[in-house]
Amino acid sequence: MSAGGASVAKRTVRPAPALPGTDEPHKKERYAPAVIEPKWQERWARDRLYETPDSDPDRPNFYCVTMFPYPSGDLHVGHWYAMTPSDSVARFLRMRGYNVLFPMGFDAFGLNAENAAIKSGVHPSDNTERNMANMRRQFRLMGMMVDWRREVVTCHPDYYRWNQWLFLRLLERGLAYRALAPVNWCPKDQTALANEQVINGLCERCDTPVTKKDLVQWFFRMTAYADEFLRFDGIDWPERVRVMQTNWIGRSEGAEITFDVLGGREKISFFTTRPDTIHGATFMVLAPEHPLVATITTPAKRAEVEAYAAAARQATEIERTSTEREKTGVDTGAFAVNAFTGARIPVWIADYVLATYGTGAIMAVPAHDERDFAFARKYGLEIREVISPDGTEHERLDEAYSGPGVMVRSGAQSGLSSDDGKRAIADEAKRRGIGAASVIYRLRDWLISRQRYWGTPIPIIHCAACGAVPVPYDQLPVELPYDVEFTPGGGSPLARKREFIETTCPKCAGPAERDPDTMDTFVDSSWYIYRYPDPNDSQHFMNKEVASKWLPVTRYTGGIEHAILHLLYARFVCKALADMGELWFREPFVHQRNQGTIVFEGRKMSKSRGNVQAPDEYVAQYGADTLRLFMGFMGPWTGGADWDGSGIEGVFRFLHRVWDVALTPAGDGPRNVELDGAVQRAIGKVTTDLEQYHFNTAISALMELTRELLHASGPSREDGVRTLLLLLAPLAPHITEELWQRRGGATSIHLERWPEFDAAKAARRRVTIVVQVDGKVRDRIEAPAGLEQQALEALAIASERVRAALDGRKPASFVVVPDRLVNLVTK
Ligand SMILES: [Zn+2]
Ligand SMILES: [Zn+2]
Repeated sequence: MSAGGASVAKRTVRPAPALPGTDEPHKKERYAPAVIEPKWQERWARDRLYETPDSDPDRPNFYCVTMFPYPSGDLHVGHWYAMTPSDSVARFLRMRGYNVLFPMGFDAFGLNAENAAIKSGVHPSDNTERNMANMRRQFRLMGMMVDWRREVVTCHPDYYRWNQWLFLRLLERGLAYRALAPVNWCPKDQTALANEQVINGLCERCDTPVTKKDLVQWFFRMTAYADEFLRFDGIDWPERVRVMQTNWIGRSEGAEITFDVLGGREKISFFTTRPDTIHGATFMVLAPEHPLVATITTPAKRAEVEAYAAAARQATEIERTSTEREKTGVDTGAFAVNAFTGARIPVWIADYVLATYGTGAIMAVPAHDERDFAFARKYGLEIREVISPDGTEHERLDEAYSGPGVMVRSGAQSGLSSDDGKRAIADEAKRRGIGAASVIYRLRDWLISRQRYWGTPIPIIHCAACGAVPVPYDQLPVELPYDVEFTPGGGSPLARKREFIETTCPKCAGPAERDPDTMDTFVDSSWYIYRYPDPNDSQHFMNKEVASKWLPVTRYTGGIEHAILHLLYARFVCKALADMGELWFREPFVHQRNQGTIVFEGRKMSKSRGNVQAPDEYVAQYGADTLRLFMGFMGPWTGGADWDGSGIEGVFRFLHRVWDVALTPAGDGPRNVELDGAVQRAIGKVTTDLEQYHFNTAISALMELTRELLHASGPSREDGVRTLLLLLAPLAPHITEELWQRRGGATSIHLERWPEFDAAKAARRRVTIVVQVDGKVRDRIEAPAGLEQQALEALAIASERVRAALDGRKPASFVVVPDRLVNLVTK
């Protein structure tokens, strides 16, 4: 999947300005990230610093995952934005005492890789391997604490055989099925798409308007879990994502009711959320694709209806349902009977009714639905008021009234409120055997067949005698052949590879053909988190013994653009595997946070627009630590950011300051209570901020602490610098490691414990107490904050100036404002 969903326009990196104070003669060495970063990356790898044991007696396990990238070839700034803050949180949790697993892999199949390969003329497999090699190198440049022993690559047969296993298990449970359906079709990518991959009517991958096509395809039965998806039981997810998924699932309560077609045996079923308005149904509208259209249309209307239906198939769903577009339709010449009024009502077709929503037919109630009202006005159809806001009947309506009210002109139900009427109509429909209360969802099943090459072959063999036969488990994987003409156009590329397609039926041994389609790459990414703990298990999709130590994922991060796609698919697969007894939990991600999108000049950027720049130039210029910090410093991480590299120099200067403050001898001096307090407050702030993914304010607090340390001396400064390095370590792992060891650290700073926050010390700061005698200011005294009344009185009396002002008199009383003022009153 796309980790950032965004990238960055080409921009020249300006040379860093001369840094004041860094070339003073007493400083032996300047901060040189180009020297220290590769050194530590090598050393960490050699010391296997980031290899996480499956368990540690002293540290509870903690499983942090950030969405793995497509092997596009370059980790661009969008990837850095997604991944380095996630890495910082993983490092932070490790220092907090957890045994943190933070793995990485590649979402290596799919259209992106295939299209890139076609463009470059290199086979997708070779192109992908080359890209992954480069990206692993780039991950190393980032300074990520990835345990590479657990890498998952979805295009390798030892991974995708378990996609095939998953498919077959879902098939066994009735959660995978094959159906002829009008599917979303991307004319450019020449493949079917799932509903979730059509964004505002456009292909999720290439922004081409999506059309419809009838195809026999494989589906996963997402709708089986529609109600459970709405519950979000026991998980900590952002409200925004929960709302997006809830809207996508689109649960509506109402009734499904059937009207007879006049003079025939056909019946038209429809769903309505407003059964209370049924007496006002003065016509019906079918989707142009509705199967009844062919049978009920009268001969006189046939040509017109067929022409309209043909045109509708060319329009995208977004065009068809746009509220701005004028509604059009054609009369089929047929009539239905409104079962509640007995009236004969005309049946129309119109493209604003979608075959895929509800039953593909509606009862039209123009008096109480704006769309139906406009349609009735345009075509001269009857408008009949049946709900009145105040209970009085109106002769004429100037607009539709869609609110609740009192039922009128509704026979026995007249006088009921809308709410009571909904139940009464559903009950009557049930009694008469023509309907019942019902619930529908906007959510559709997940279409997973793709007519493309670079994906997991669907493990099905089609036999003329036996039908669709599953490939036996012991014959998995069905390997994707290498030598295939994979450019799109004219069906599935695998269909052209006869050696692959032609096989024998596992049931009857007769000649048969393999399914020529491959799976949606979102199948691969729907369960990869179960594979990380032991990616080499050759017997199971997941090594249960090892995985049970980690799963479910404790912290998950990734782009908000996956709120409906990947995050919903992963929930589906988790619930299905739980029902198969393969998992012991029903939600894959306990805690989930999403970074926003990086935009440039107000525009979201993508590789397909060709304006991507790898951040390697920035790394060469400023170092990975600076770029990592800059990613967190641009603003609230969940809100996304406007990319403008100019602020990076300020962050670079900050690290120079850290370098200087850490390597300058602290000198002598007394303990500085105020500085100790500032250090403690920084611990408190950075701890809370990193816990909540508030990187920008954590970095600000560290900048402020560094400034305070610069002007201090003595043991408080010495301790403060140590704390500063520990707090900065998760965010800037290289410079802190270098400084830690230069200052005498025996082992890696990344093995150190996070500083403990001391609330009592944090409260310690110095305040200025104004001392008055009879209301006149006589002195100002520095004192630790929080002194009690008696101590403040004693301090005031001890002042030379106050004694002079008193001139031998004794104060009769004291007025004390804590931390602010002492007034000695003599009269
Ligand atoms: Zn496309
Ligand atoms: Zn057969």
